[in-house]
Amino acid sequence: MISLRDVSKVYPGPVVALNGVSVDISRGELLAIVGPSGSGKSTMLHVLGTLDRPSTGQVHIEGHEVGSLSDRQLSALRASRIGFVFQQFHLAGGTSALNNVADGLLYCGLRPAERRRRAAAALERVGLGHRMDHEPHELSGGERQRVAIARAVAGDPALLLADEPTGALDSVSGEGVMRLLRELNTAGTTVVIITHDREIAGSLPRQIRMLDGRIAENSTGVAR
Ligand code: ADP
Repeated sequence: MISLRDVSKVYPGPVVALNGVSVDISRGELLAIVGPSGSGKSTMLHVLGTLDRPSTGQVHIEGHEVGSLSDRQLSALRASRIGFVFQQFHLAGGTSALNNVADGLLYCGLRPAERRRRAAAALERVGLGHRMDHEPHELSGGERQRVAIARAVAGDPALLLADEPTGALDSVSGEGVMRLLRELNTAGTTVVIITHDREIAGSLPRQIRMLDGRIAENSTGVAR
C-alpha cells in the first residue's frame, strides 16, 4: 500500500530529518513509529501522508508515485484516501462536534446534507452519537480526540495516520482512543501511530524505531 525507497528529507540548515529510509506498509497493518524526540517520526508521518514531499527518494501510495503527481493531484489523493489525527485534536472552537466532522468533508465534493449525514454516522461510529451538538469546550479530552478521529475517518480513508493521539490524554481516555483505533483497523483501515508510550507501542503488531533520521529497528512485536 505504501512504499518508501531511499527517502531523505533535508530542511534548510541543513537538518537531515530523514536519511535514506526504505519501508513497506501493507494494507490492513496496525503499526507504531517510536524513537526519541527529533529522530524523524513526524517527518516520516508527513511523508507517508503526502503532507511533505521527500528531498530525494521515492514514495508510492496505493500505486501512485508521489513525485509524479501535481500538488492538486496530491491534495485529491490525500483528501480521499488519508485521515490524520494529532495530539492536540485541532478542532474548531465555537461550533458543534457535528460541524467539525462535516467540515472535514468540505473537499470531497459532497452536498451539505450528505456531509452532515456522513458526519453523524462517523460520530455514531466513535460512540459520540449523544454529543453531536456539543462544542469542543463542552467535551472531555478523550471525547475531543474521538471527534477528531470521527473527522479523520468520515471520508472512509484507507489510511489513518496518528501523531501521538493519546499524548494529551489521561490513561483511561488514552485506552479508549486506542481501543477505537484498533476497532477501525479491524474494520479494514491501515493505521500508523506515533507514540512515546512503550506499552502502547509494544501492544501493536509492528514497531518501527527511528534514530537520527534512520530506521533503527523494524520489528514484529507481540500483538495482545
Ligand atoms: P520527531 O517527530 O521524532 O520528534 P521530527 O520529524 O519532528 O522528529 O524532526 C526531525 C528533525 O528535523 C529535527 O531535528 C527537527 O528539528 C527537524 N525539523 C523538523 N521539521 C522541520 C522544519 N519544518 N524545518 C526545519 N527543521 C525541521
